[in-house]
Amino acid sequence: MKLGWDNNQCGVHSNVCELENLMCHTMDERHRKFILLAEVEKKPSTWIQYQAKKMEAQKFDMLIVGAGFAGLYQLYRAREMGLSVRLLEAGDGVGGTWFWNRYPGARCDVESLDYSYSFSPELEQEWAWSERYAPQAEILKYINHVADRFDLRPHIALNVRVKTAHFDDQNLCWNVGTEKNQSFKATYLVMATGGLSIPQQPDLKGLHHYQGKWYHSAQWPKEGVDFKGKRVGLIGTGSSGVQMVPVIAEQASHLTVFQRSANFSVPAHNVAFTEVSLKAAKSRYPERRAMGREAVTGQFLNANTKTAAEMTPEEQRAELEYRWKGAGGGFRMLRNFADQMSNPQTNKMVADFVKDKIRQVVKDPATAEMLCPKDDLPFGGKRLSVDSNFYETFNRDNVKLVDIKADPLLEATERGLRTRSHDFEFDMIVFATGFDALTGALMAIDIKGEGGITLRDKWKHGPVAYLGLGIAGFPNMFTITGPGSPSVLSNVVHSIETHVDWIMRFLRKAKEKGVRKFQPTAQAEVHWVKFCADEANKTLYPLANSWYMGANIDGKPRVFLAFVSGVPVYRRFIEKVEAQGYEGFEFS
Ligand code: NAP
Repeated sequence: MKLGWDNNQCGVHSNVCELENLMCHTMDERHRKFILLAEVEKKPSTWIQYQAKKMEAQKFDMLIVGAGFAGLYQLYRAREMGLSVRLLEAGDGVGGTWFWNRYPGARCDVESLDYSYSFSPELEQEWAWSERYAPQAEILKYINHVADRFDLRPHIALNVRVKTAHFDDQNLCWNVGTEKNQSFKATYLVMATGGLSIPQQPDLKGLHHYQGKWYHSAQWPKEGVDFKGKRVGLIGTGSSGVQMVPVIAEQASHLTVFQRSANFSVPAHNVAFTEVSLKAAKSRYPERRAMGREAVTGQFLNANTKTAAEMTPEEQRAELEYRWKGAGGGFRMLRNFADQMSNPQTNKMVADFVKDKIRQVVKDPATAEMLCPKDDLPFGGKRLSVDSNFYETFNRDNVKLVDIKADPLLEATERGLRTRSHDFEFDMIVFATGFDALTGALMAIDIKGEGGITLRDKWKHGPVAYLGLGIAGFPNMFTITGPGSPSVLSNVVHSIETHVDWIMRFLRKAKEKGVRKFQPTAQAEVHWVKFCADEANKTLYPLANSWYMGANIDGKPRVFLAFVSGVPVYRRFIEKVEAQGYEGFEFS
């Protein structure tokens, strides 16, 4: 690694900033000190300069928070535009979701050929996915490859958790502070903090008494966990739990799964690529991406455009079987009928079909009934899980399901968990209890906008934002895949690219026009929020107590958090806003 002593490419940067940059890099503490001392020996004034500079805030054109898919792509584009940019990341590596969620069985539930960057055809062609749904380690390797291939690391500061972001009305810039009391300034602030990055910590009475080890799916130890021969208790049967159960069951001596509510899960039909099948798929990449762009969820799911009423009962059944049995598998079950998420009868038909499948797979009838979601949950109302052998795992002798609605979980004990009727002993407890979705990561930071208004205060009754991209009162700030955009209802990598490209076009225009301050108008924001709510209310989504609605967090306002009408409709909106001179934004 070389120090850029004469490299002043970042405008306000001095060679000291380059040194600071290096110090923030991925290298371990000893290595950092070694380099610093070597440089100080060559040039003793460096140390004084370094200390002095540390006292001041470092200034950039753009600060990005978060080094997941969103932050890295934003960084790539900002650098391409010639902005001085720094990306701040809390973890000690890049990868975001895929850096933290290392639990056994973690893999994507959108096909990897879609759940990957499309901005570089060369990258698309050179990267070889091993399976239709790549495992976590492979996705993390891919993200690291992207960071190296596009030389992004020199602009990334790891182990930096942002604590505060305050807008300076006088100087029109953001002042950002970190947990380690570092300060940064920037003209633009981009929050690439992710929709599912604040784990919901278990609030279980007596957990501190528990003598065994416990883990949360989203804070998994890097070295992994050896379940071999252990008695394991697992709480939560959302997507994370559903992926973990089959893998832990194979290792543990016994696994007890505590389920509060049953959700729907559909088979992934994951397959390994062969050289031939991958080559064939890659040869059709442009076509694949184009179809994804026009699909409701930003990935081609071969949607049936007919409503159920337009088909005979035989045709309906054939459609369901075709999708269930692996014609692509997974999320294709969300597109059986055009009216599946709006017509309760159609939805019930799909739900009943899946419940029958569960009953066919799970041999013990009582366990099968427990795994069947209740009638008040629409199919797809909570995020669908996509599994490999989840239901089959309950046929194993070493796996037991406990319904904690019927037999409530009271507390942790020294040796395990206590429900109203039973004491369980465990060597390990795993929490797959989810996240404070979409708003959690933004609200975790003390964000203050114009006149000192706080985001926490502004959003106390639910998020109010324009297009999921900007917030009135918080100038020169963008949120990538924020509340009110398709984000979690879509192939999120696709939605990230759409947002970043839009932001860059916006900034180019702002630069051209000499704009120093911009933000959505309060009126545009209120209209957008109402429109999102009205669209959601035309569907069955709001009927579910889901994290889409904020229902998994005590006291969180019940608001549908995403834009429900799909990726193409949304994209046309934001393109129209752009074509009309950024309608809904005010500039000065
Ligand atoms: P989740 O879907 O919110 O599921 C959390 C589970 O924990 C639910 O079963 C919930 O029960 C239960 N739970 C929560 N608090 C509890 C408590 N205090 N006591 C008992 N049970 C409790 O969380 P997740 O499984 O981590 O998934 C979140 C999202 O992350 C997914 O929906 C998906 O978007 C994403 N994800 C994606 C993948 C993938 O790409 N393959 C994998 C994992 C996650 P209730 O249902 O009753 O609330």
